[in-house]
Amino acid sequence: MAEDLAGSITERDEFIVTKGKNKKQLKCDTDSSAGCVSQRACVYCGARVVLNPITDAIHLVHGPIGCATYTWDIRGSLSSGAELYRNSFSTDLKEQDIIFGGAKKLAAAIDGLVNKYQAKLVFVYSTCIVGVIGDDLEAICSAASRRHNIEVIPVESSGFIGNKSAGYRAAGDALLRLIKPSAPAVIEKNNSINYLGDFNLAGEAWIIQNYLRQMGVELNVTFTGDSHYTALKSAPKAKLNIIQCAGSMIYLAGKMEELYQIPYIQISFLGIEDTATSLRNIAAALGEESMIVKAEELIAKETARVEDIIKGYRTKLEGKKAAIFVGGGFKAISLIKQFREIGIDVVMIGTQTGRKEEYEIMNELVDDGTVILDDANPAELEKFMMEKGANLLVGGVKERPLAYKLGIAFIDHNHDRKHPLSGFEGAINFAEEVYSTVCSPVWKSLNALGMKSGVANHG
Ligand code: SF4
Repeated sequence: MAEDLAGSITERDEFIVTKGKNKKQLKCDTDSSAGCVSQRACVYCGARVVLNPITDAIHLVHGPIGCATYTWDIRGSLSSGAELYRNSFSTDLKEQDIIFGGAKKLAAAIDGLVNKYQAKLVFVYSTCIVGVIGDDLEAICSAASRRHNIEVIPVESSGFIGNKSAGYRAAGDALLRLIKPSAPAVIEKNNSINYLGDFNLAGEAWIIQNYLRQMGVELNVTFTGDSHYTALKSAPKAKLNIIQCAGSMIYLAGKMEELYQIPYIQISFLGIEDTATSLRNIAAALGEESMIVKAEELIAKETARVEDIIKGYRTKLEGKKAAIFVGGGFKAISLIKQFREIGIDVVMIGTQTGRKEEYEIMNELVDDGTVILDDANPAELEKFMMEKGANLLVGGVKERPLAYKLGIAFIDHNHDRKHPLSGFEGAINFAEEVYSTVCSPVWKSLNALGMKSGVANHG
């Protein structure tokens, strides 16, 4: 490990390795260590991140008002139609409700919202306190469903059932209830694909849909970026599932294979290399010669356009060092390759919910000396970024203040960003953003003022 990790919490040792120094297997995919202020989001947040982009649903949070602060306005998912998902409704549980139960309040909230918005679909999210007081969400939602003759689906995401991955599973279960055909008739398959694990941040799903269209591939529905009730209902008809965010969607994909005989492949549209490989793999999985030819034409055209631009940034960024702490393992793997494309080495890498096989790939890809860590806390991130002399941190909303306090450049790669990072367009945006933040004169000014925390030479 992390030889001398600030080690008051020794349980954390198993979750940290340094490539080339430790032979041990990294521990991951388990609950956070007691006493650590983990960077991980909670179960409810895991569920909400997956379901929130469903644009015409009512998203009702059964819990204290604080849990409902998660709204569209800090998230980057875009819609081509309904805007109902931009609201974050809450039952606003107070002390009285916690003592006497929140069931009546929840039923009244559902009635009020359905009458006002005439939605066909309501998700009711359980939160920590609901897990404690034990309101029967299933019964309340079933009764509301019968009263209004619409789907009211409970999302079992109370905090004490596990970590963020449990939230992904809760969202997967809610989606499985939604897409289940009402009659057990034979499902008529078409030649389309479902795109799992893209939340249409800054319109990324539209970029990929455009590539697929150019290849002659029909997109059935995206889970869940820019999706809606009717489109999701058609999901079992697809021939193939492709998965971008594996952490959040591998459970759902496995279930869809079992229930609806839809095979899946993992793809990634982050960076030139992974985008090209993914387009090839989709065409190959569908097996039509014309798609394979069109995929190659698209890759050749786009690579030629993008490579020159990327080369320009590489000459300016060569030799810089990056630290990565993101949600899922698949994104982290793509980022290692994407940083290579622009001449940057990764010196620290970690995730909130990475799986064993993903950490093995990361370990193969990074250089000796790179620190790999699961479910980190701010103290660990700070320690290793300083030790390794990182010039840049890639993360989300919780990591941004840490980077800035240390005087390190920062790239937002989370759901609240407003610019697309997917596909060939995204590769240019990524390189441009890395350049503008790493080479910003602000770091020199901080050095001159003596305000930086000692991370060397951002120049
Ligand atoms: S569900 Fe629990 S951990 Fe998550 S935001 Fe609400 S109170 Fe916080």
